[in-house]
Amino acid sequence: MLITQLKEKESIEALVNGKAFIINCFGCKEVHFPEKEAKEFQEELKAAGKVTEILTMDYICNPKNLELHLQNYKAEIEAADVVLVFSCGVGVQTVADFCADKKVFAACDTYELPGYQGVTPQLFDCDQCGMCFLNGTGGICPLTACSKSLVNGQCGGAKNGMCEVDPEMECGWERIQKRLEKLGRIDILKNAPVQIRDYSTDDATKEAKQSE
Ligand code: SF4
Ligand code: SF4
Repeated sequence: MLITQLKEKESIEALVNGKAFIINCFGCKEVHFPEKEAKEFQEELKAAGKVTEILTMDYICNPKNLELHLQNYKAEIEAADVVLVFSCGVGVQTVADFCADKKVFAACDTYELPGYQGVTPQLFDCDQCGMCFLNGTGGICPLTACSKSLVNGQCGGAKNGMCEVDPEMECGWERIQKRLEKLGRIDILKNAPVQIRDYSTDDATKEAKQSE
């Protein structure tokens, strides 16, 4: 199970430079999706002329399902400067892979709840860290795409683009670098402040607190 919470409105507004194509995922909303806050915020953006279209659908984490829906919105996506996704981290990553030449941003943070995680394609994993980093990584999760879950760039051990921990796996941070170069946003890596991860929502921390 998981919970999605809206990021600070100011931080989302800062991402919408121009117009946004908005995607809402209601697939797991029975657990928690900030539907009311998201709707109010999206109406504000729409009233300000910053929205090309709003698509609301189930399970954007299913790439085939997503592709079928997005086919109907090619013009609206093309007209948008950014794609703003209101979903868990898996959904944002699925959209970012599908719209690889667009800036795709997460409007929510994803928190973990103990229990059944549901059946979703595991092409794009999310550790439900509660402070989604995807907006600075071109939509590739540094926690799950990097063997060491580094949030401040690569460790320097990659060889020929492959991870030093798992030589069968492409280095997540090299993927992030390539994605940002493709988007013309490599400045994000050059200018990014040091990211500090809040481990208080981490599984191991929660387990340790429970056993105290
Ligand atoms: S950074 Fe990764 S683990 Fe954290 S919420 Fe985003 S997709 Fe999930
Ligand atoms: S080689 Fe890349 S993916 Fe592997 S641990 Fe280092 S930064 Fe992470």
